[in-house]
Amino acid sequence: MRLLLVEDDTMIGDAVREVLRAEGFAVDWVRDGAAADSVLGSETFDLVLLDLGLPRLDGVEVLRRLRARRNTTPVLIVTARDAVQDRIAGLDAGADDYVLKPYDLDELLARIRALIRRSHGQADSVREIHGLRLNPITHEALRLSPDGAAPTPIQLSAREWAVLEVLMARPGVVYSRAQIEDKLYGWKDEVSSNAVEVYIHGLRKKLGNAVIETVRGLGYTMPRDDTP
Ligand code: CA
Repeated sequence: MRLLLVEDDTMIGDAVREVLRAEGFAVDWVRDGAAADSVLGSETFDLVLLDLGLPRLDGVEVLRRLRARRNTTPVLIVTARDAVQDRIAGLDAGADDYVLKPYDLDELLARIRALIRRSHGQADSVREIHGLRLNPITHEALRLSPDGAAPTPIQLSAREWAVLEVLMARPGVVYSRAQIEDKLYGWKDEVSSNAVEVYIHGLRKKLGNAVIETVRGLGYTMPRDDTP
């Protein structure tokens, strides 16, 4: 999942980016409103974490312009605890939710996960598919046993998990290699040309071939699971 962090405070931005990366998100960071407006006009993100007090262009104005372009990317605004009016202005301008500064990082992560989940039309974050149970919160993959025995944990690398998360968010949707890379890496990360193939190969070895299908010339998909 790819997040845009809009934050002018270097210390806060550094800390938040660190936490988000540790959770497996690809994070791009801009430090003023004009830069945010420009990048949101040309690139797609799974969520925007938007500070409201920003140089060059106010956060609320960034949000207004985004929604005026009919862009429905989930936006989580960040405001000071006492700035009730800002919060209201942000929500009225089309924000989906807000968090208060100073951040409670666990709460921030929970709100981000909830918004991404909702934007994918899922009420529940845990998915059971192809005999596996996948939990995006704990990053756990478990193989379910048909005879009711305890499920077996499967060890995945952070990158393997990130690829899996993209595919499992919307079973049946085909993602090209470029689309997966996009969600996997921030601007400054080096992408080796066959990285996605390597992660897919690793996932198939660990999860079984049925979990990820190659659609020739198009990309990859997690087939819908038709078993009741
Ligand atoms: Ca600020």
